[in-house]
Amino acid sequence: MVLPLTGGTIYATQFPCPRCVQSIIQVGIRRVVYLEQKPHQVAAIAAANKMLRDAGIEVKALSELEAESPTWSARLEQFIHDSRQPGEPPAPPGDV
Ligand SMILES: [Zn+2]
Repeated sequence: MVLPLTGGTIYATQFPCPRCVQSIIQVGIRRVVYLEQKPHQVAAIAAANKMLRDAGIEVKALSELEAESPTWSARLEQFIHDSRQPGEPPAPPGDV
């Protein structure tokens, strides 16, 4: 089964290279969220960024969107820990 990607968001560990950006544009993805930019790929990133801009695709670093997430994870973990009843066995692995 092929799911349409039109209007979707892609999450990438790296800023996408121009070849990937071509595919991103072709399949109709409208938003790119990336984790980091490699400093040695400045030229490729600049080219890719221009392609994305020209196509009207929104580009965000994850840190711009989720600056709070590391704090949130720690607070959630603490909350789960604190809400456990005394004597209750620890949650099985993978249980949140
Ligand atoms: Zn690529």
